Amino acid sequence: MPCPFCGAEDSRVVDTRQVGDVVRRRRECQVCQRRFTTYERVARASIMVVKRDGRREEFDREKLYEGIRRACAKRPVSTEALDQFVDGIENRLCSLGQSEVPSRTIGEMVMEELKELDAVAYVRFASVYRSFTDLEDLKREVDGLLEGH
Ligand SMILES: [Zn+2]
Repeated sequence: MPCPFCGAEDSRVVDTRQVGDVVRRRRECQVCQRRFTTYERVARASIMVVKRDGRREEFDREKLYEGIRRACAKRPVSTEALDQFVDGIENRLCSLGQSEVPSRTIGEMVMEELKELDAVAYVRFASVYRSFTDLEDLKREVDGLLEGH
């Protein structure tokens, strides 16, 4: 990492701190003695989501988070649990090891896990995601859910 002041390549790490999933290092240039900071984080391979109409867009964690948050509105699900949920989905996606994932796969993944997290949130999400064609469909889904308990 070249020194931002003089461009020398030689620097010494004087302090290392872990902040969340980021490592912050204070460095001292061995040539001009000035100090600067570098940040290091794990690079997640970006995943492209293939939508139903064939368009592709980069996987957007925030977007997924919003969708789940909306489904969990007024449910006893903490912000922390939401975060963990989205982390879990992101990790599962990464572990597929594919650079492109159909939006359908993500939807099914979310529904599968949401079912465990909160049944009401699950039905809300599923009703939007599957856009149940009629009330019978929705009723079947809810019945199936209730029988499972
Ligand atoms: Zn320097």
